[in-house]
Amino acid sequence: MLAEIITIGDELLLGQTVDTNSAWMGMQLAAHGIRVHRITSISDEADAIRAALDESLARVDFVLVTGGLGPTRDDITKETLADYFGTDLVMDEAVLLRITNWFAGRGFEMLEVNRHQAMLPESCDVLINPRGTAMGMWFERSADQKVVVSMPGVPYEMKGLMEEEVLPRVDQHWNLPTRYHRTILTQGVGESYLSELVWDWEEGLESRGVSIAYLPAPGQVRVRLGSVNVDAEVAKSQVESAVAAFLALAGDHVVSDQDEALGAAVVRCLTERKATLATAESCTGGAIAASITAVPGSSAMFLGSVVAYDNRIKQSLLGVSEEALESHGAVSEAVVRQMAEGAKKRLGTDYALATSGVAGPSGGSIEKPVGTVWMALAGPNGVESKCLNVGNNRTRNIERSVREGLAWIIRTAK
Ligand code: AMP
Ligand code: MG
Repeated sequence: MLAEIITIGDELLLGQTVDTNSAWMGMQLAAHGIRVHRITSISDEADAIRAALDESLARVDFVLVTGGLGPTRDDITKETLADYFGTDLVMDEAVLLRITNWFAGRGFEMLEVNRHQAMLPESCDVLINPRGTAMGMWFERSADQKVVVSMPGVPYEMKGLMEEEVLPRVDQHWNLPTRYHRTILTQGVGESYLSELVWDWEEGLESRGVSIAYLPAPGQVRVRLGSVNVDAEVAKSQVESAVAAFLALAGDHVVSDQDEALGAAVVRCLTERKATLATAESCTGGAIAASITAVPGSSAMFLGSVVAYDNRIKQSLLGVSEEALESHGAVSEAVVRQMAEGAKKRLGTDYALATSGVAGPSGGSIEKPVGTVWMALAGPNGVESKCLNVGNNRTRNIERSVREGLAWIIRTAK
């Protein structure tokens, strides 16, 4: 099924407000099996609203409108819709009581313009908006059962109405195909490499009812496999067999078969294996620990971190030897391995990840240019180490080191 979105407001056309409503609504509608066919932004003018409705309703069965429902004179959507659907505005006593209480609860004086917000089109279903004073409206055109929904422009009010009122009605009103999708997180290879790897398999995918999307971000690619079908079981089994095939081809690069952040994937991976983790971080300054502790439930597997920035801390808290620091320097394989071993032993964990690098922009040398990052991972089967050459942007170096480190933990533990 197709829908269109109309966003109303002079501020959208003047560029004072960016239309974020449509993007969010598009995602929600897609998840409910509705494809957005067109998005239109128009001014707060009755003629423009009527023309946009005429055009959209000529193309699709469902039109979602946001904006123009405020109490001020420039907001005319409600009046225009009532006129468009040939109905009168009548006082809705229940809504009036709600608005009165809304003002009383906040200690604001209620004005005539606010009372007027309880005047609602007689023929529509009122969608209660508990977050504000402008209600939503669901109109059904009697001639052809086409539906127009009007919601306030304020994003969090619109979102509340969509989730609590509009989408549940959508599911009831139309017998829509269900949509099933899975997202797989890959790390360390680019989208073109991945796509090459699964090229032959991907060719026949569409005829098997499955769509694929590559969603790249620096250092990682999320691969989304989805299917739309009236039979929910069919959609699910089509996608599940596609996921199994994808994992068989590209499994080495996969760090999670769920739609989650890398930190969450580490937490899940180690928690499932009842394993614990510590970090010893120099150049990443605790960023690896932060991306793990951001995940609820991480206390089950994460014991702590030593941010060992200064050499004295590397020695006193992690047991790195003076000899290693002197003969190899802090950014070295020897030191980072001792950091990982020291953290594993002193914090008493199954795994410990250590980093030591030249994050930049200064501090580089010929042998160790900016972007040289040594990492070591101590685990049940000993210590491994590797060197990254990440580049010369400090923020990006830290981010990339964090991602590489997190992915490494998963690859080692799984
Ligand atoms: P209104 O329903 O016209 O009173 O909208 C109130 C406020 O919501 C506006 O001042 C904007 O800041 C915001 N807004 C309206 N439309 C949108 C939109 N499409 N995307 C994001 N914000 C919006
Ligand atoms: Mg407005």
